[in-house]
Amino acid sequence: MEEVDVVIVGAGIVGLSVAEKLSHSFDNILLVEKEDSFGRHISSRNSEVIHSGIYYPKNTLKAKLCVKGNELLYNFLEKNNLPYKKCGKLIIAIQKNELPILDELYQNGISNGVKNLEIISSKKAKEIEPLFKSCGALFVPSTGIMDTHKVMKKLEFLSEQNGVLISYNTEISAIQKQDDEYILSFKSDDFQVKTKILINCAGLWSDKISEMVGINSEKNDYKLLFCKGEYYKTTKYKDIKHLVYPVPDPKGIFLGIHTRINLNGELSFGPNAYYVDKIDYQMDDSYHQEFYESVKNFLEIDFDDISQDDCGIRAKLQKEGEKFRDFVISNEKNKGFPNFINLIGIESPGLTCCLSIAEYVEKIIE
Ligand SMILES: Cc1cc2nc3c(=O)[nH]c(=O)nc-3n(C[C@H](O)[C@H](O)[C@H](O)COP(=O)(O)OP(=O)(O)OC[C@H]3O[C@@H](n4cnc5c(N)ncnc54)[C@H](O)[C@@H]3O)c2cc1C
Repeated sequence: MEEVDVVIVGAGIVGLSVAEKLSHSFDNILLVEKEDSFGRHISSRNSEVIHSGIYYPKNTLKAKLCVKGNELLYNFLEKNNLPYKKCGKLIIAIQKNELPILDELYQNGISNGVKNLEIISSKKAKEIEPLFKSCGALFVPSTGIMDTHKVMKKLEFLSEQNGVLISYNTEISAIQKQDDEYILSFKSDDFQVKTKILINCAGLWSDKISEMVGINSEKNDYKLLFCKGEYYKTTKYKDIKHLVYPVPDPKGIFLGIHTRINLNGELSFGPNAYYVDKIDYQMDDSYHQEFYESVKNFLEIDFDDISQDDCGIRAKLQKEGEKFRDFVISNEKNKGFPNFINLIGIESPGLTCCLSIAEYVEKIIE
């Protein structure tokens, strides 16, 4: 049986970040991924936004890791010469009764340590982004966009350069605990691997990996729900300078259908949010009208100006009706599984937090 110091499950942006970080302090790391390449799931189906940290309640992991992750990510992009734009974002009040929500977000952002926030008038918002209608806005200069694929490619390269073994097409199918070690079996191979440190970065399947170790998802409130988010694109506008978001959805399950801009200047809208039973990235046109109704509130657009783009699925712990759930990032020693590090419910702002999550994981390994 092969023996390694650390096994990381999942080569999304989180698993790759953890691998890169730990490669500076451990010699023998194995990163296993069931697909034939990195980032085939959540990490390549999202808005690619580097969030600021204004939305999350104070002192939560989401708030702390987002503010820290934002700074770490910009430094990483700069140092590695990767493309990004610190474009800033406007959160707009579409109706007057939404103005107090901007104040709340402003106060929350300040208490989370987000810098340079500014409440601006509708006139100033119009000067910044002339196409958008609003009654006033919150300007968030530290928000930006990046090319997530390039970030993951770089993390893969740096990890391998530091000796991490990345094994694609390798799906963990069973985990057995023996004393303080974990013995892993794989779907299509009959070899086994033993490790003292096991890190679960399996995204949409992370509750299943945790169950393989022996942790009951129902009892521990670790059961993941799948929440789909679709995008619709347009070619009517191009090269919009800033991200523009409405105020967040009052139910708290998403940020509201907003603009998504990429580094080529293309514009799309989304993601919406609805719970689904299975992981299926097919789209039909059911939500076309919903998108049209939302977008026309802040931008001049016709029904036929927008068409289906792509979609992603959120790994959510938050149930329908629940206001907020934080990330679970836990060394499960208190449950009897020392150095089994669980990462569950890593939804947005998980991209932004990838490097700060990796730092946090390193600190909780014993
Ligand atoms: C629609 C949408 C929009 C978003 N927008 C943003 C945004 O703008 N900004 C932001 O900060 N965050 C955003 N997020 C959140 C962000 O994308 C995620 O938090 C992040 O990508 C999660 O990465 P991950 O590595 O945990 O998961 P993944 O990228 O899904 O990686 C998990 C990997 O584990 C592998 N795996 C699973 N089971 C096994 C097994 N048994 N054996 C081996 N491998 C296994 C999977 O194949 C997968 O590759 C968004 C998410 C969604 C869905």
